[in-house]
Amino acid sequence: MYCHKCGALNEDNAWRCTRCGTVLHHDGPLLPAGSESARIATHLASAILVTIFFLPSPVGLVAIYYALTARGRIAQGNLDAARAASKRALIWCWISVAVGIAIVAYTSRYLLGYMQNFTRQFQQF
Ligand SMILES: [Zn+2]
Repeated sequence: MYCHKCGALNEDNAWRCTRCGTVLHHDGPLLPAGSESARIATHLASAILVTIFFLPSPVGLVAIYYALTARGRIAQGNLDAARAASKRALIWCWISVAVGIAIVAYTSRYLLGYMQNFTRQFQQF
């Protein structure tokens, strides 16, 4: 096999490159740095953020689930599945934001009505 770093030809079962010493064998499939896998965003940070920010909504957990799935698929080297999961994670991030805003809007309207009622009752005294 060829070294992915310096391009030197090594024996197929070689553990390290004879020229540069780079480790040639990993547990998973060999993915050179800066390869396609590095360009797939898992959206895990966004998913966790929307889940924390819109805590009453459980929808963010779905986004986290898909983000973790994407991460697992990247580790397995299954880039097509990783890309699909990554796309779903992003979609569910946005659904989570929409549902979160709806819940906040509904709750604040309810609270506002409650407070107006309270003020009205208070003014009667
Ligand atoms: Zn090398």
